[in-house]
Amino acid sequence: MSTRPIYLDCHATTPVDERVMAAMMPYFTEYFGNPSSINHIYGWEAEAAVKQTREILAAAINATPEEIVFTSGATEANNLAIKGVAEAYFQKGQHIMTVATEHSAVIDPCKYLQTLGFEVTFLPVNQDGLIDLAKLATAFRPETILVSVMAANNEIGVLQPLTEIGQMCRDRNIIFHTDAAQALGKIPLDVQAMKIDLMSLTAHKLYGPKGIGALYVRRRNPRVQLAPQQHGGGHERGMRSGTLYTPQIVGFGKATEIALAEQATETQRLTELRHSLWQKLSQLPGIHLNGHPTQRLAGNLNISVEAVDGAALLLGLQPVMAVSSGSACSSTTTAPSHVLTALGHTEQLAYASVRFGIGRFNTQAEIDTVAQHAIATIQSLRKQATLV
Ligand SMILES: *Cc1c(COP(=O)(O)O)cnc(C)c1O
Repeated sequence: MSTRPIYLDCHATTPVDERVMAAMMPYFTEYFGNPSSINHIYGWEAEAAVKQTREILAAAINATPEEIVFTSGATEANNLAIKGVAEAYFQKGQHIMTVATEHSAVIDPCKYLQTLGFEVTFLPVNQDGLIDLAKLATAFRPETILVSVMAANNEIGVLQPLTEIGQMCRDRNIIFHTDAAQALGKIPLDVQAMKIDLMSLTAHKLYGPKGIGALYVRRRNPRVQLAPQQHGGGHERGMRSGTLYTPQIVGFGKATEIALAEQATETQRLTELRHSLWQKLSQLPGIHLNGHPTQRLAGNLNISVEAVDGAALLLGLQPVMAVSSGSACSSTTTAPSHVLTALGHTEQLAYASVRFGIGRFNTQAEIDTVAQHAIATIQSLRKQATLV
């Protein structure tokens, strides 16, 4: 029996599902061929496995297999999408729009482009973490070439209105990218209905292996041009060179297949677990729910706690549960999360926050233990604070 704390940090990463692991294993040793080797069966076997994952991913988002470009994860997919569009379309315009609450893998490529002369608008969010569509509508410029808005937020779990944003971009002939790292396998995604042109995906947030992801690149209506950010053997139709990592790709496919098959029942189960955790915690005074109450990922609960010190809170929770503070950096820094700050929180509330990321292997008994310990910790810290 392990005495390690209960894992509740599923927005950071998830364990590889045993079924995914089993599917990957033969591709390390037996079917080890290079999928680009076209002259023998070793290559064909690997290529067949890669093709299967392409088909699974394409079906998952209503795309075609040719539109899937494998990358090392969502960070690389975001970089390829944002810098690749900027480089391919800079003659058309040099303005990009994104949101203040995006992952750093979107924010930082945008900031990098600013140093090259691109203009970037970081749109604000409402108190519930959702973007204001009216504000987006007025921020478009004639020289806007790209809008990047994440599907599901990794800190507060809110789901942005992709269909509405996609339509607004399509009406104006502007490319729409979404970082769907937290969304694949959790909520329905449809690049046709949502009018998405580029979508970043990753396997390790859905019980697949780390180090593998993909970028969906629209090929028709419109055909999106992308300048490659890594040159070499011309893999992935020239958009991303490098020998394909077959075992990881097989795992990505299997993980997606399982997540989709179980999406409906798992969403229900996680919603109940989150609800139960929130019911218990919110009996304490001064507990705030961060993010929209219903338009959010089933497994995400993010709270801010009044009248406690953020670092002390995390330290008190640590022995029992593995959770993150909303804080962008480690608990030793005093910088509060850019996401919680964007919600308009005071520094104290932004800092004293806890992100519970509930996942496939968590149970009701674990949630009960976590709730009990969290309540005891908060009460004890508040009591100490009133004594000094
Ligand atoms: C985890 C995450 C990323 C980074 O993905 P990697 O595959 O680890 O590079 C990007 N965006 C969001 C929203 C994420 O949650």
